[in-house]
Amino acid sequence: MKPVHTARHAAEAHLIRGYLQSEGINTIVRGEFLTGGIGELPADVCQVWVVADSDTDRAQALLREFLRGDAARAHAHERWRCPGCNENIEGQFTDCWNCGAARPR
Ligand SMILES: [Zn+2]
Repeated sequence: MKPVHTARHAAEAHLIRGYLQSEGINTIVRGEFLTGGIGELPADVCQVWVVADSDTDRAQALLREFLRGDAARAHAHERWRCPGCNENIEGQFTDCWNCGAARPR
């Protein structure tokens, strides 16, 4: 077993666990029920572990995509139009990829 993600809280850990399970990777969440001073992990650490070491690489690749997709979705509603060239720019960019103009405030 190997840890592939350290979550900020149990809900995040379970979200990621559910995603990996849906991709056919068997995982567990460790740390959520521990109290201070007991066990091998601090109480506020919640980790997602893959059960089979052979799934580790694939799990990490999936997680990178998953977390990046999350960021993209969070900014998806913030598309903006470049004042320089009228290009439609995705929300995660702060400058126009086409002409380099800065995003207007
Ligand atoms: Zn532009």
